[in-house]
Amino acid sequence: MRKKFVAGNWKMNLTRAESVALASGVVKQLGDATDVDIAVCPASVYLDAVSQALSGSHVALGAQNMYHESGGAFTGEISAGMLQDVSCKYVILGHSERRHVLGETDNAVNRKVLAALASGLLPIVCVGETLDQREAGQTQSVVKTQVEGSLADLSAEQMQQIVIAYEPVWAIGTGKVATPAQAEEVHADLRSLLKTRYNSDVADQLRIQYGGSVKPGNAAELLGQPNIDGALVGGASLKVEDFIGIISGARN
Ligand code: PEP
Repeated sequence: MRKKFVAGNWKMNLTRAESVALASGVVKQLGDATDVDIAVCPASVYLDAVSQALSGSHVALGAQNMYHESGGAFTGEISAGMLQDVSCKYVILGHSERRHVLGETDNAVNRKVLAALASGLLPIVCVGETLDQREAGQTQSVVKTQVEGSLADLSAEQMQQIVIAYEPVWAIGTGKVATPAQAEEVHADLRSLLKTRYNSDVADQLRIQYGGSVKPGNAAELLGQPNIDGALVGGASLKVEDFIGIISGARN
């Protein structure tokens, strides 16, 4: 049985004070509940402050990106070791905004995934098709290419440390959510792809989150699909009550 996992991607939003207040609010509302795994991913400059607000709670800290090198002359970049130094457990890699706005390739994502794993961080690896690709009937092949490229050279053991987030680009921040059936179809395809590439154990234990305009009102139905194991949430993770509402949806 895969435990549901809901993560909030705060993107380039909120001040330091707002980030700490949001983290504290989530911690307070969740209390001692551990039935769903939860993470929040603030902007990198506020990781340390949010880490302190989460201290002693069941809410994990995640980063939104990192660089594959461990240190050196890479101005502006952050290493996996630095993220661990501020108590990050997860790192989002290959988010569509990084792929499509900042030109990140599968190969670059793959190097980051390998570096994150080597230092003990758990990667949340994002994949998803654009609207044009969906309309051209390319969803399955695009997602397959992204998974194979981003997760190249990972062993079956390493796959146990991975979370995949299926995030159709056309549904991110647009209010257009994939129907539960559309999302489930891709999640099931992904799981069978991993069964072919690895084995049933890897495929069965891998958690695949859905992301794209998840809200309290649609979370229960989406997360009730057999192959949807949680959510990566953007906009709705910026308000305590909405994020908590989505976590409640994961319980149903
Ligand atoms: C995201 O940023 O990963 C995301 C899914 O955003 P939103 O929930 O706002 O669509």
